[in-house]
Amino acid sequence: MSMGLLFDATRCVGCGACASACKEQNHLPGEVEERTTAYTWTTVEEKEGAYVRHLCMHCLVPTCASVCPVAALKKTPEGPVVYDSEKCMGCRYCMMACPFDVPKYQWDRAVPIVGKCILCAGRVKEGKPTACAEACPADATLFGSRADLIKEAKKRIRENPGGYLDHIYGQTEAGGTSVMMISNVPFEKLGLKKDLPGEPPALRTWQVLSNIPDFVAVWGVFLYGVHWITARRDVVAQAHPRPRPEGPEAPKDRRPS
Ligand code: SF4
Ligand code: SF4
Ligand code: SF4
Repeated sequence: MSMGLLFDATRCVGCGACASACKEQNHLPGEVEERTTAYTWTTVEEKEGAYVRHLCMHCLVPTCASVCPVAALKKTPEGPVVYDSEKCMGCRYCMMACPFDVPKYQWDRAVPIVGKCILCAGRVKEGKPTACAEACPADATLFGSRADLIKEAKKRIRENPGGYLDHIYGQTEAGGTSVMMISNVPFEKLGLKKDLPGEPPALRTWQVLSNIPDFVAVWGVFLYGVHWITARRDVVAQAHPRPRPEGPEAPKDRRPS
């Protein structure tokens, strides 16, 4: 069953428990930062008198995965879009392609990897809720099957029509996402992207890639670079030892940029 999250901006009290729980669950170093980084996978921002969470939306057809030349990102049947640092070649096409500007890079590290919410894939696979949903004291972040979350969102909107916009953000945006949001403040005023295509941008992947300067050249280098990739894999494995995907390791005395 495909699982996901429903964030209800009308219930969020801005306590930040979700962001702290994410840090703890994924062993992410440092304090929760103002914006998402490779070490802060979710934030809570006050906008227009409401609070909004920022995190990976876990697209049903993720563009990040579709542009990745080495399949370091993939959508799992349970819903999370997960990342394998040992496959990653560091090209950062995922960062350029994501319609929600989610993946972040460890710019402060000699051997950087990408960081983003993984929808607590390990917990979800064991049938547990995500750490952020478990920590939320206000039912503002709910975990469940995507179908049930859509039903719950519709129920909340139906029972309090004056209290919500009649829209579930993520139900159709970018082809649909596993993380969805409801609100009484227009989504664009919460800083969420508007006018996203209803079809998955992943379908346009090759158009995206062809617009990236030197992609063909980079691809050629990639094809000749299997040896280099294998070498990076070894270096990444040493710099970011497993167990994964609990979270990237980073030196505690170095803050991300
Ligand atoms: S929001 Fe971006 S990083 Fe997350 S699954 Fe979608 S394309 Fe990938
Ligand atoms: S689902 Fe897990 S990884 Fe994603 S924001 Fe919540 S706690 Fe962090
Ligand atoms: S834990 Fe719940 S109420 Fe607190 S900031 Fe996160 S979503 Fe909002």
